[in-house]
Amino acid sequence: MAKKRKAAAGVATARGSGRDRQVARLEQRLARLVKDEAKRSRQLDEVRARQAELRAQIADLGAGGGPGVKAATEVGAPAPDGPRAYCMREKRKVTIAGAERVVLGNGRHAYAGSCPDCGARVIAIVAAGTAG
Ligand SMILES: [Zn+2]
Repeated sequence: MAKKRKAAAGVATARGSGRDRQVARLEQRLARLVKDEAKRSRQLDEVRARQAELRAQIADLGAGGGPGVKAATEVGAPAPDGPRAYCMREKRKVTIAGAERVVLGNGRHAYAGSCPDCGARVIAIVAAGTAG
């Protein structure tokens, strides 16, 4: 009984002219969501970059250490062999692996790549003066 009804419904759907319209509507909705995803993922990148920036600033100021101590250790630090970013997974600064220059949605320039140690995505915003 139920089997027969299901088969009949299938035939009706295949024949129905509204099916194409429904597919078109769903594809339209899908396209909109895909676009939305791209936009949001860009926004997510920006938010993460801002977070990383602030965390890096906090790290630079040295929570607990005091700025004087931190400044002393930074003087002797070796020159970085590439743009550095804050790895949020490991909570420390790393040299970006496979760094590439990107422009964020807000117009700011940044380096995006991955953490060489854990592979997490990292982003470093380029200082406003050096962008270009
Ligand atoms: Zn990492």
